[in-house]
Amino acid sequence: MGKNTGFLDYPRLNKQELSVEERIKNFFDFHIPFDEEKQKEQAARCMNCGVPFCQSAMKVNGRNVGCPLSNLIPEWNHLIYLGLYEEAYKRLAKTAPFPEFTGSVCPGLCEACCSCSINGDSVGVKANELFLIDQAFKNGWIKPNKNIVRNGIRVAIVGSGPAGLSAAKHLNDRGYYVTVFEKNDRFGGLLMYGIPNMKLEKSIVERRIRLLQDEGIIFVNNTKIGVDYSMENLRNDYDEIIFACGTSKARPFTAKGNDKKGVYYAVDFLTKTTKNLLDEKKFEINCKGKDVVIVGGGDTGNDCVGTAVREGAKSVTLLEIMKEPPETNTLPWPNYPNGKKTDYGVFEANTVYGKDIRRYQTTVEEVLGEDSVNGIVIKRVNFVAGKFEDIPDTKETIPCDLLVVSMGFVGTSEEDSDSYEMKAEKNRIQLKGFAYDDKISVCGDMKNGQSLVVIAEKDGIDCAEYVISKHK
Ligand code: SF4
Ligand code: SF4
Repeated sequence: MGKNTGFLDYPRLNKQELSVEERIKNFFDFHIPFDEEKQKEQAARCMNCGVPFCQSAMKVNGRNVGCPLSNLIPEWNHLIYLGLYEEAYKRLAKTAPFPEFTGSVCPGLCEACCSCSINGDSVGVKANELFLIDQAFKNGWIKPNKNIVRNGIRVAIVGSGPAGLSAAKHLNDRGYYVTVFEKNDRFGGLLMYGIPNMKLEKSIVERRIRLLQDEGIIFVNNTKIGVDYSMENLRNDYDEIIFACGTSKARPFTAKGNDKKGVYYAVDFLTKTTKNLLDEKKFEINCKGKDVVIVGGGDTGNDCVGTAVREGAKSVTLLEIMKEPPETNTLPWPNYPNGKKTDYGVFEANTVYGKDIRRYQTTVEEVLGEDSVNGIVIKRVNFVAGKFEDIPDTKETIPCDLLVVSMGFVGTSEEDSDSYEMKAEKNRIQLKGFAYDDKISVCGDMKNGQSLVVIAEKDGIDCAEYVISKHK
C-alpha cells in the first residue's frame, strides 16, 4: 500500500449499506463498516496537504466549510494508514469532544473543501473519524477519568444537547463541579429526540452520558428551569450558569386549515417516534397505510421521510419551496454542499415508491378535511426579489392524511425565555460574546440560531473557555 500516491491509487469508497428492503424493517443504523485494510486505504487517500483546508473552520459565501472543531485530520488520517489507531484516536480526542456523534451526523464540512475534491472525490474523513471512535470504545481506550482535581467552582448547565454537553465535558475535565439540567426525560436534547435512531442510535448517546456521569457530571432530568427549579435558586446554588437550550420554536406553518388533526411539526413527530421506540410503545403518530406529505426538504425533512417509510406509509411526498439545486458536480470547489443531494430517507422512499418523491418550488395553500386532514391544496412558487410569488394556474389537490411540517426553527420560544427570565430579540438571546450577565452565559443555537451539531459543540467549548477565563 502506498501513501504518497494513495489519492491516485485508491478510489473513494462510501460505506456499504444494507439494502433498502432490509433496513426499513427497523430503526437501526444500516451502515456496514469497512474492514481494516479498506479503512487504511481510505486514510491513505489523504495527501497531508501543506494547507489542510479540511480543518480550517472557514466561511465561504456565508457557508461553513472546513471542520469547525479544527480536527487534526491529516494527522489522524496518516496514523490510521500506519495502523496506529490508538495514537490516531488520541489526536482526534484533542479537539473532538464526541466523535461518535459528529462521525454519524455531521454533514462533513471537512470533506466539502478537501483538496482531493477539487477534481475528484474527497477523502472519506467522516468515516475515518467514526472508525477511530468505534475502535476506541471497542478496545477500552476510553475510560472515565476519576482523578480530576476539583477547583470548587459549581456550574449549572441548562440543556443537554450538543452545546450543553460539550461545555459540560470541557469544564468537568478542567475541575469544575458540573450539573446538567434537562427538561425532558432523557438526556441529549436534539441528539436524543431530534435525530432519528437510524441516523444516531440512542444507545450511543446514552453510552456517552454514562461516561460523563462516571467522570463526575451530575445529570438532572425532567427539570425545567423556572418551573421545577426557580431561577432564584439556580442563581444562589451555582457560581456560573450556562444556558444551552437550543431552538425550540418551529417556523410557523400558516396555511389555511393548519389546525386540523393530522398536522404535526417535525420536532413533535420525530420526538414521539423515538420516545415510543425507546419505551417500546406503539407509535402515537403512525404513518402506516397513510398518504404522508412532508413540508421542507432539509436534513430534518429527510429524517421525517425515512421515519415515514419505516412506519409503512402508503405514499410519501416531499415538498420543497426552493428551486431544484444544480447537480453537485456542476458547482466549483468548495461549493458542493449547495448542490442537489439525495440523502438516505429520500433514497429509501424513491426506491420503495418507484419514483422521485420530491416536488420543488411547491408549498401548501390549504389543508383540507372536516376535522382531520384528508388532502392538501398545493401550489408552485417562484422566489423573486427576496419573496415568494405564486405561479398562476398551478394549484392542485393531492391526497394527504398525515402532514409533517419541517420548515426549520426560528429560535427560542417565548415560553422558554420567560421561564428563564431572559430577554430574547427576534427569538434569540442576542449576544456579542457569551455573557448574558455576570453569572449567566449562553451558547449554541439558543444564541446563534439553528445550526449544526458540530457548530453547537464548538460553541459549547468556546463558552466553557469563556467561563474559565473569568476564574483565572
Ligand atoms: S466533525 Fe464534521 S467537519 Fe469535523 S472532521 Fe468530523 S465530519 Fe469533518
Ligand atoms: S484537505 Fe483532504 S487531502 Fe488535504 S489534508 Fe485534508 S483530508 Fe487530507
